[in-house]
Amino acid sequence: MYIVLLGPPGSGKGTQGNLLSQKTSIPHLSTGTLFRDILANPDHELHKDIQVIKEGKLVSDEIVNKVVWDTLKKPEYDKGIIFDGYPRTVAQAEALEKMLESMGKKVDVVIDINVTREVLLERLLGRRSCPICKRIFHISQGLEKCPDCGVPLIKREDDNRETIMERFEEYEEKTAPLQSYFKSGSVNYIEIIVTESSRTASSVKEEIMNKLFELGLVGK
Ligand code: AMP
Repeated sequence: MYIVLLGPPGSGKGTQGNLLSQKTSIPHLSTGTLFRDILANPDHELHKDIQVIKEGKLVSDEIVNKVVWDTLKKPEYDKGIIFDGYPRTVAQAEALEKMLESMGKKVDVVIDINVTREVLLERLLGRRSCPICKRIFHISQGLEKCPDCGVPLIKREDDNRETIMERFEEYEEKTAPLQSYFKSGSVNYIEIIVTESSRTASSVKEEIMNKLFELGLVGK
């Protein structure tokens, strides 16, 4: 099954991608994580081309689509992918649909996570993650190290107020149009609305699992 997680920065796509992957055994693919790994490797052929990430801007469609195409062909992604952070523009969505079609596959469901701006900002400014397992935490949890890997948690370079605002703008201008793009197509569309910062990741995951069940996409 091919799932697209849609939502602004801080909406919980990464966390939900991990949780849904554990529940369904479908691999989770975050293009943001792929790019941060490339940023940390100055010898990588794309290292120069993706520096725009530091300013909160989107990487070019051409580069993202190529990276996704190379990944789609890997045998571990044969049975499906939970896409987190891809597609992010209408051109990327069209490219993804073409790539999948050429493999006799399709996007099965889009999960759109809507979260209010206040909640997003609070989450992003306090977000920490494990550099090894990539699990996401919040400073309010009071953890300094990853409980699984034992290494110090890190703050993303682009999780500062100025870059966050730029990422919100990029989202509104380039990614939000994907909502009407997918809604006007034939793909299953699940909408989740989060208005409280106290809403837990596990309750969001439960709502998503229930809706996937109602659509007949997963068992109980
Ligand atoms: P994320 O971890 O999804 O918030 O992504 C971090 C950054 O990586 C974004 O702000 C973009 O600069 C870049 N990025 C990730 N996915 C994409 C994409 N599909 N298209 C363009 N840029 C992307």
